[in-house]
Amino acid sequence: METRVRYAPSPTGFQHIGGVRTALFNYLFARSTGGKFILRIEDTDRTRYSAEYEENLYDTLAWLGIDWDEGGPKGGPYGPYIQSHCFENYKKYAEELVKNGKAYYCFCDSERLERIRKIQTMNKMPPGYDRCCRSLTDEEIKENLAAKKPYVIRLKVPLEGSTRFHDVLLGDIEWKNEDINPDPVLLKSDGFPTYHLANIIDDHFMKITHVMRAQEWIPSTPMHIILYAAFGWQPPQFCHLPMVMGNDGQKLSKRHGATSCNEFRNNGYLKEAIINYVSMLGCSYEEGRDLFTLEELGKLFKMEHINKAPAVFDYKKLEWFNGQYMRLKTDEELFELTWPFIANSGLFAKDDEEERKKAGLRFADETLQKPTDEQRAVLMRVMPLIKERLHFLTDAPEMVRFLFQEPGLLPVEEIIPKRLDAEKTKEILTRAAALLPKIAGLEEHDALEIFKPEAEALGVKLGDFMMPIRMAVTGSRISPPLIGSIQILGIDHAITRIQKVITECF
Ligand code: GLU
Repeated sequence: METRVRYAPSPTGFQHIGGVRTALFNYLFARSTGGKFILRIEDTDRTRYSAEYEENLYDTLAWLGIDWDEGGPKGGPYGPYIQSHCFENYKKYAEELVKNGKAYYCFCDSERLERIRKIQTMNKMPPGYDRCCRSLTDEEIKENLAAKKPYVIRLKVPLEGSTRFHDVLLGDIEWKNEDINPDPVLLKSDGFPTYHLANIIDDHFMKITHVMRAQEWIPSTPMHIILYAAFGWQPPQFCHLPMVMGNDGQKLSKRHGATSCNEFRNNGYLKEAIINYVSMLGCSYEEGRDLFTLEELGKLFKMEHINKAPAVFDYKKLEWFNGQYMRLKTDEELFELTWPFIANSGLFAKDDEEERKKAGLRFADETLQKPTDEQRAVLMRVMPLIKERLHFLTDAPEMVRFLFQEPGLLPVEEIIPKRLDAEKTKEILTRAAALLPKIAGLEEHDALEIFKPEAEALGVKLGDFMMPIRMAVTGSRISPPLIGSIQILGIDHAITRIQKVITECF
């Protein structure tokens, strides 16, 4: 039988990295088993829905390269895949459950429900419906319907016994029925389905074979099993994925750092790094190997290799992956990737916000600006130098700034190395200005051989000798390797900058 899995997000926020993990595991499972990956939009909560969030979902998956076989705007044979497009259908099935005695009409108004809630809180009782309408007589129901009283439809959760299901990862799970939400609403009074009803109907009719979702859905699963039984349908297999935690053991949230995929993207992470790192959140592939492409993961993924224990989101490790993928880029690729960040940094004229909007640009890695031939040529030369030092694409603008802008007036304390004084530092700069013509065209190693004896003669370490030169030439302590930077800037230009610092700062 063909495996069919789905990612079923509710567009009530920007795509969280945890959601990306769920989408990715489903995608990888489908690819590794030759099955289908379906995208279903669960937009039943109309108050929290926003078209922007739905758009963000498509953007995120497209950016990451997680493409789906059916669903979303793409459609497919079991559509519609956007729940709000078929609300009528859910109503029909809810009414059918009422007819079969598996669900019932509840006419309790919000005031009554609020009263129950207050009493429960006062008496420290668990919250939940008191099942008042479950025992209405046919007569009473008829009367209420004739009087056009608004109603919801509630599921009859068995009053005794327990409900079991098997989780591929966690084994058999059993819940006492008395601990299950007493008679959850399936259909709201406005005729809209709740998540539970729509989710089960869709999973059934979309022929979903495996439900892989976050562990926070475990408490809802017994209720889903009861619903499947009420319809007389076979439930799919369940696999609840380990939670994604911050390093303090709490659920990953803003407190820990970026959480939405947008933020990672705008903060200069590469999609390859995100895919690779997120694929390892609670799953293993090949011993002793870290780097995998999406395609390789799609071959290697095995549900049995998912861990039970929560996964800890390690920002440092993700940063490491980012660096690794950055170094694997060709100069041309790295130029294309860094260009929007450089262009949008304001180093050159900035894109007009209105124009950006009109062009549909939303992310920091998109820009309307085209590089001039000269900008491209200079940047292409500096790419091999910055490649080794970039942690994020967002580091690029600062690293290349000195090639396009004169450094401002530097505070002298920043130029003087810790172990040296103003006099020594000035001496270093004076000697450096005289030495620079000799390094024209030399590689880093050979050029440093020229600086070394000078540093020794002054009795200073090479690092301390180079620091003031770096500050004068680039205006920053962090810059690409200095010799290469000077070669690209031009020897004469570098000398002018050094001389300017000597006269202005000392
Ligand atoms: N719409 C639910 C969510 O937002 C889907 C849960 C499930 O996969 O069943 O996570």
